[in-house]
Amino acid sequence: MATSMTDQFLKNNEQYSRGQAIHKPGYPGKQPIQPSKRVAVVACMDARLDVEDLLGLQTGDAHIIRNAGGVVSDDAIRCLIISHHLLNTNEIILIHHTRCGMLAFTDDLLKAGLEGDPAAEKLLGQATGRAFMSCKKCAATPSAFHAFRGQIEPLDAPRDVKNMERLAWDVRRGMSSILNHPWIPTSGPDAVTVRGFIYDVDTGRLEEVNYPGPMGSIG
Ligand SMILES: [Zn+2]
Repeated sequence: MATSMTDQFLKNNEQYSRGQAIHKPGYPGKQPIQPSKRVAVVACMDARLDVEDLLGLQTGDAHIIRNAGGVVSDDAIRCLIISHHLLNTNEIILIHHTRCGMLAFTDDLLKAGLEGDPAAEKLLGQATGRAFMSCKKCAATPSAFHAFRGQIEPLDAPRDVKNMERLAWDVRRGMSSILNHPWIPTSGPDAVTVRGFIYDVDTGRLEEVNYPGPMGSIG
């Protein structure tokens, strides 16, 4: 198997966490459509994550798919299938992070708050430090918010054993969804590799999530 780009990015991340910039800003000139490092990243939309910088990516190196949580959602799977089969990527990197907002609510709580449940409004207000304003209407979509499983905690709570476990559960669920998808090959000549990480927003460092492992409990 070819050398893993992911391992090179981990070395880049060590440099980044020490304050050394690798990503070069500015227009790089004409480039091919296929990502040159053959990598696709799925990461949270959190404003504190600069994916190019924290991995040391240059323009043209990788696909970067971002959403709330860095969740392997239907749409992330859609992007990964296109990324691999049409644009030749073969390494997938999942990035969740400490202090993620997806630890601070549940799908049921957010839906109830949006629909007008006063108890949910109050709890969401306490969790986020922002007056939660209900819309008092129902909606069929989104069908899920994909909040992380487990006991909710205040927004932006520092890392601890429990929330790191909740983050790892969701990284593993994402890895499992990719590794078991019928349209994402993980063996043979067209195989894709998948590795998952938690990025610590307080240190700038990536920590790998072991897989397989527990997927989580609601307790
Ligand atoms: Zn996040």
